[in-house]
Amino acid sequence: KSYVKNNLIQKSSVKWDDIGGLEDIKKLLMETIVISALQKPASIKPWKGILLFGPPGTGKTLLASACAGSLDATFFNVKASSVLSKYFGESSKIISALYEVARELQPSIIFIDEIDALTTKRGEDTSEASRRMLSTLLTELDGFQDKGSDNLVLTLAATNTPWDLDEAILSRFSRRIYIPLPDKEATKEIIKINTKGLELNVNLDEIAEKCVEKLYSGRDLKNLCQEAIWNMIRDVNKNLHELAKLPYNELKNKKLKVRPLTNE
Ligand code: ATP
Repeated sequence: KSYVKNNLIQKSSVKWDDIGGLEDIKKLLMETIVISALQKPASIKPWKGILLFGPPGTGKTLLASACAGSLDATFFNVKASSVLSKYFGESSKIISALYEVARELQPSIIFIDEIDALTTKRGEDTSEASRRMLSTLLTELDGFQDKGSDNLVLTLAATNTPWDLDEAILSRFSRRIYIPLPDKEATKEIIKINTKGLELNVNLDEIAEKCVEKLYSGRDLKNLCQEAIWNMIRDVNKNLHELAKLPYNELKNKKLKVRPLTNE
């Protein structure tokens, strides 16, 4: 439990508005959270496990963080492969502890990234440790499905390779959501989110079209914006590195020069 508390809990301040595009998916997750929290007849059972799948860098982690951020919930960010590799024989105990702590500290959002690490690639043998970790996870997911509506512990799992998942996992995550690459409108939104506070002197439509053509993910777009911002900063603040000689207190009183971002 102390491992879980010290290593897997994160504070999330991500808001729904920090995510560009994915409108229907955001709405569905908001509804799930609201229904989970509201008082309701016993027969109404909101999703307890949701699987997000799709190409890398499209906002799966961000969506889970926003669920936690909007509820001010305890956010557990678990990479299945790293728990397995670091705590081989102990990994199933970590999963039990994870759910115990999540129930204690609810509302809780558990995000399990790379859940495919727990199942076999076709033809390969799974290790005993990952089999045990998986079976504990499935038991936990089944467990509080029966514990009724008085707890808000939502598990979101993510994978880039849903075809590697076996039936046992898929059946627990009956709600499965495809997270696509951003279309043109979403691309524009993501660029705006990642250049917040700066003026854009660019043909956003044209740039967005090019990015969609190149199959840019949200992560690619973020990197693109970072690069553009960095180039602009260097362009208008010549010899910035020389200010490194100044003491911190003096630096704090100076202002970084910025200009609008242009097409270059
Ligand atoms: P992976 O499958 O590789 O784990 P992922 O789908 O979980 O990737 P994220 O970690 O959520 O992707 O996204 C990476 C980064 O890309 C985010 O921190 C964010 O800055 C940016 N990003 C991705 N998608 C979006 C989006 N829809 N809106 C705004 N930013 C985005």
